[in-house]
Amino acid sequence: MIVAIDGPAASGKSTVARALARRLRFRYLDTGAMYRAVAEEALRLGIALDDAPRLARLAHDAEISFEYDGDDPVYRRITVLGRDVTSAIRSPEVDAAVSAVARVPEVRAAMVAEQRRCAEGVDVVVEGRDIGTVVFPDAEVKVFLTASPSERALRRLKDRTGAGYQAELEEVVSDILRRDEADSTREASPLVAAEDATPVDTTGLTVDEVVDVVERLVRSRRP
Ligand code: C5P
Repeated sequence: MIVAIDGPAASGKSTVARALARRLRFRYLDTGAMYRAVAEEALRLGIALDDAPRLARLAHDAEISFEYDGDDPVYRRITVLGRDVTSAIRSPEVDAAVSAVARVPEVRAAMVAEQRRCAEGVDVVVEGRDIGTVVFPDAEVKVFLTASPSERALRRLKDRTGAGYQAELEEVVSDILRRDEADSTREASPLVAAEDATPVDTTGLTVDEVVDVVERLVRSRRP
């Protein structure tokens, strides 16, 4: 079974998808982390963010892998060609660069092919922007998470400071709004709710409350 969780930046996708995967014992696939990994490697190599052919080659050759601890469905590390980028992909520099990388159609094609491979033959919770529309249009469960801009900004601020980065609310708000605008208006697989996705506004809800809603959907679709 595939559970697709899409939504804008800091709408709660990661937290909800991780908790849901642990509850259901489904694998968790973080597609945003894959685009972030390509962006991090591009920055490290000094590839210009408008150099689509080099970004495409990089995405094709990057060998992104997730490493898991025991039977925990949530990955512990993400690597690019064997290099651990788990923390580096959460930096403000990657936040600022990732949408430019993710708009390149060949980068997306390489990531989507890898995402489909990762989900072959397993039950999986997949989070991203185009999961219910493009990557897995036949997913059995599709959810589109939203939250008010101020709640999203506060959540992202907490993530950032929790990860050891300094952050100001104003800067976080502008990053979220800029990324949403870029992700929603790009030509290739823009951020949009699938017609058959269930919208869930997470404003004011706890993680457990949101996970309960999605879990009920999963249980209702299971034979
Ligand atoms: O979800 P996260 O904030 O980690 O995603 C980082 C960026 O990766 C998004 O802003 C978007 O540009 C890109 N992305 C995407 N398609 C996905 C997942 C993420 O374009 N399925």
